[in-house]
Amino acid sequence: RERAGKMPRYPGLERYILIEKMGDGAFSNVYKARDTTTHDEVAIKVVRKFEMNSNQRANILKEVQIMRQLDHPNIVKLIDFSESRQYYYIVLELCPGGELFHQIVRLTYFSEDLSRHVITQVAKALLYLHEECGVVHRDIKPENLLFYPVPFIPSRNPKPRGPDEEDKADEGEFVPGVGAGGIGQIKIADFGLSKVIWDSQTMTPCGTVGYTAPEIVKDERYSKSVDMWALGCVLYTLLCGFPPFYDESIQVLTEKVARGQYTFLSPWWDDISKSAQDLVSHLLTVNPEQRFTIEQFLAHPWIRNTQEPTYAAS
Ligand code: ADP
Ligand code: MG
Repeated sequence: RERAGKMPRYPGLERYILIEKMGDGAFSNVYKARDTTTHDEVAIKVVRKFEMNSNQRANILKEVQIMRQLDHPNIVKLIDFSESRQYYYIVLELCPGGELFHQIVRLTYFSEDLSRHVITQVAKALLYLHEECGVVHRDIKPENLLFYPVPFIPSRNPKPRGPDEEDKADEGEFVPGVGAGGIGQIKIADFGLSKVIWDSQTMTPCGTVGYTAPEIVKDERYSKSVDMWALGCVLYTLLCGFPPFYDESIQVLTEKVARGQYTFLSPWWDDISKSAQDLVSHLLTVNPEQRFTIEQFLAHPWIRNTQEPTYAAS
């Protein structure tokens, strides 16, 4: 399956054999590759430095700088970084399943169990980023969530819920279990927009020593809540298969987001539990002070999957 012959060659990247293209962005191509020294498969983000201005170059270096500090099972690991005159090479842990986005498209939507399996892993990565590293990601979306596949247990296709899904109607009930959607471990990728909000060594807001203005402290809390909003958008999308906010016109879309105008659209949401809807609504809360924090998210009954009342031990 290795089609090294058709792959481009990059100066300074001789250690790796490029296997196939896995994705691309504005300034980059991402390849699956083999490290000829360790024989491991890796992902390499080849960034076209020559097309970038100094600001954009600085952002790539910041992305790498942030990734260097991170070590968590649900975050893509940085393996190596180098550059040639024209390119940056960011060598990353390979996530063989690719984007969560494609898996949503493939399955139409995820069962509540599979959605919980996925979103809990994303949340654990956010807990680590926010509380241990002082980093906000700021670009959480299904394209930046990658996964390790597990054997797909063909438990029949999702039950169709919308009028345009009737062609899939003969496939029957979706009987999911964890991993039934072919998804094992989830990893957050793409720290291109991420930001350090406090210094993890001194546990203080970045670049300040005790003279921090309240709006800066507040700012920090707000920037974490940006990831929580995005987490809500991802959870909504997993459960029903389409995003909470959408419009052809970018102006109308922006208005809808600003007002927090979304609905649990029937018939798609009819069979989704009230508990899941409750959690989504605490994330898609316009006021960032009222929006769930990561701790509140992880303590929610839908995440803990405890439908029964809990009794305080005495
Ligand atoms: P951009 O900033 O251009 O969005 P990303 O870091 O998000 O760059 O990478 C672009 C795409 O490349 C991802 O959406 C994904 O499809 C693929 N990709 C990136 N990193 C990996 C990886 N470690 N394993 C597998 N695919 C990856
Ligand atoms: Mg991306």
